[in-house]
Amino acid sequence: MASPLPHLLPQNPLSSSASSTLFRPIRTLPPSHCRRPRARPRCVSAALQWGRKPQLSGETPRVVVVTSGKGGVGKTTTTANLGVSLARHGFSVVAVDADAGLRNLDLLLGLENRVNYTAAEVLNGDCRLDQALVRDRRFPSLQLLCLSKARSKLPLAFGAKALTWVVDALRSRESDSPHFVLIDCPAGIDAGFITAIAPANEAVLVTTPDITALRDADRVTGLLECDGIRDIKMVVNRVRTDLIRGEDMMSVLDVQEMLGLPLLGVIPEDAEVIRSTNRGYPLVLNKPPSIAGLAFEQAAWRLIEQDTMTAVMVEEEPKKRGFFSFFGG
Ligand code: ADP
Ligand code: MG
Repeated sequence: MASPLPHLLPQNPLSSSASSTLFRPIRTLPPSHCRRPRARPRCVSAALQWGRKPQLSGETPRVVVVTSGKGGVGKTTTTANLGVSLARHGFSVVAVDADAGLRNLDLLLGLENRVNYTAAEVLNGDCRLDQALVRDRRFPSLQLLCLSKARSKLPLAFGAKALTWVVDALRSRESDSPHFVLIDCPAGIDAGFITAIAPANEAVLVTTPDITALRDADRVTGLLECDGIRDIKMVVNRVRTDLIRGEDMMSVLDVQEMLGLPLLGVIPEDAEVIRSTNRGYPLVLNKPPSIAGLAFEQAAWRLIEQDTMTAVMVEEEPKKRGFFSFFGG
């Protein structure tokens, strides 16, 4: 049977011989994403501009699904940190945990003890929508909505139509319609994925720079496009510049070449992420900020302004470029 992703299969890029750019063999193969327009690099206006507030772009509420295909690449971490960053900038955000089977966005936000009602109960008529929205005490403009109880199975009736109804109900709240609805998507491309992407009009595709995550990301990109979601930006997570320099990890440039998507953010591998996950205290709140926290903060800024970044070659003049070269030029 023909493989859906021939360009990802033939050679292990890590076994290719050293060249001035990493993994040239993959780049020269015809990519399946050639149907999509290449990301056009734009001027990076959103990088570290502490002196001004980000300007909200696009029609609200912006319904953004955070997805990946592969599990464990950082969707929930990204949703939590983007959500907190957006709320800190004064935007109202509803973070929806659509990973009904293995919900954990509540843990990352430190709100697990306050989830009394869920969207499933709203649909059953057991509570009102505002009772199921858990307001974050640190940033009251951030609210969490879980689809179902941590240990219950999603009722069969809760599908794409039900989540679309919930998002429409959020949209039609007169005084409290959110600026952003962030939907934390479950892994895979089955019913949970279909449900999570249904109400979205934009997507943040999270991937790690490894070939399994990229294959899944490519497949998911095609499915998102089939569903009519054209605004897809990617976050490359768990990037290690030391491994890239040693040609043991794909560079962000390679990832971008392979997926052909505009880049929202590049997040380094950082032990602080694990620490903050376990404390239920999103990384972007850490003081002093960690490198990954800053990277999430910048990604949130770009999301607000519908901006993108350009990847740089980390192996290029590392000393001259210094610390911020990591985040793009
Ligand atoms: P997903 O929602 O895609 O399954 P998670 O957000 O739950 O993934 O992340 C999976 C694990 O990876 C978590 O333990 C998280 O702390 C860890 N992780 C995510 N991003 C990073 C990072 N940049 N550096 C280190 N650990 C990370
Ligand atoms: Mg998750």
